[in-house]
Amino acid sequence: MNSTAFSSLTLHADLSGNLASLGYEEMTPIQAQSLPDILAGKDVIAQGKTGSGKTAAFGLGLLQKLDVQHLCVQSLVLCPTRELADQVAKEIRRLARGIPNIKILTLCGGVPLGPQIGSLEYGAHIIVGTPGRIEDHLAKGTLTLNSLNTLVLDEADRMLDMGFQPSLDVIVGQMPKKRQTLLFSATFPDAIKAISGRIMRNPVLVQVASTHDSNSIEQRFFRVEDDAGRLTALRLLLLEYSPESTLVFCNTKVETQEVADALVAYGFKALALHGDLEQRDRDQTMVQFANRSISILVATDVAARGLDIDTLDAVINYHIPHDPETYIHRIGRTGRAGCKGMAFSLYQEHPYRMIMLGDSIGRKIESETLPSVSVLNKPVMQPPMATLQIGGGKKQKVRPGDILGALTGENGIAGKQVGKIQIFDNWAYVAISRDVVKVALRKLTEGKLKGRSFRVRQMFSWPD
Ligand code: AMP
Repeated sequence: MNSTAFSSLTLHADLSGNLASLGYEEMTPIQAQSLPDILAGKDVIAQGKTGSGKTAAFGLGLLQKLDVQHLCVQSLVLCPTRELADQVAKEIRRLARGIPNIKILTLCGGVPLGPQIGSLEYGAHIIVGTPGRIEDHLAKGTLTLNSLNTLVLDEADRMLDMGFQPSLDVIVGQMPKKRQTLLFSATFPDAIKAISGRIMRNPVLVQVASTHDSNSIEQRFFRVEDDAGRLTALRLLLLEYSPESTLVFCNTKVETQEVADALVAYGFKALALHGDLEQRDRDQTMVQFANRSISILVATDVAARGLDIDTLDAVINYHIPHDPETYIHRIGRTGRAGCKGMAFSLYQEHPYRMIMLGDSIGRKIESETLPSVSVLNKPVMQPPMATLQIGGGKKQKVRPGDILGALTGENGIAGKQVGKIQIFDNWAYVAISRDVVKVALRKLTEGKLKGRSFRVRQMFSWPD
């Protein structure tokens, strides 16, 4: 029998018959690799983007276990946004068409609580929702998870990016320890490893594409004549390749600031990161780079160490580092999560140093030709997001769900236009799609969070 056919699995007849009617015959790669373990009841961590068929992978798993006679919440699927939750609930309903009387409920923020409480009173088998709202229902006692047997975290990396970690901890704390936990994520930063270590038991790892190998990094070297030539070379590379996020390495603190200032003067959204910054400036810089509202970070090796970012498009060595290990470490920050990375190095060094570096990295280093100066006329690519700073944080009890709710409420913006949300003691930062930032700013300024008005401003907002 074909091992990627759904018929190779032992699914209940009401599920398998329906799959055939939906025209699902062959499993997608993520389904073929994860479903046998999911159906065996194991905890699974899987790399799954939208469109990979991940919803059916976990959906079939939780439906196979479901006991319809028992009207209580048996599965919970947590999603970062309302759009995704709606999409997931829709797909689970399709998969469950052959099971009579099944109750699937979505519980998301941004809409009134009352009707949701009403629906919960009728009972549900499967809940799909966003963490903030689920936490609210648990706090009110309108939802209990005592009978839960399956927890799914969908787009877990996005949920953590949006600051839902504290809500997740509260929610997981209120469900049975004996359960199956499935985690789907497009990327695997350290924060994902940490949470899976806490809430999962011996998870099986399913990766459809390799997340990191040095072949996925394109290394190129460019010889420059002097410091002016170095800055021009940097601009040429940034304009030619338009990377969305670039880490530029300098060997000194002073130089990071000089290079960042020069790039800003040329219209790039760039900031310097070095050890002399105040903690607050450092946080703000990291926040803006991580949430994609700054495209270029100019840093020293020491300052870049604290940076937990997995998806850099390019690393540029403004100077060749002093030793090959540092070079390898620096360029290893790009080309992760199955994406192709660029590593460009500018050098002026004596040939023998380049030969030594070449020996250490196993290739001959030759200078390539820089992009033509005509690219200097190209407009500078702007980052996709902008950051709004809110003058309230943990101490004012501002939570990610409050911000998301205020932004996406009536006449608001769509959940997918909201990026990373980070909450500090007295400040919160939210990334917004650049094209709707003015609407978002108005929503937050005019609306209230926790019944209060907070000062809100757009960061790094000089004219584009
Ligand atoms: P997802 O990645 O879960 O958003 O699913 C992407 C789309 O693929 C959905 O519209 C599913 O209905 C569809 N789909 C999922 N699995 C299969 C399959 N094995 N065969 C055909 N279509 C599928």
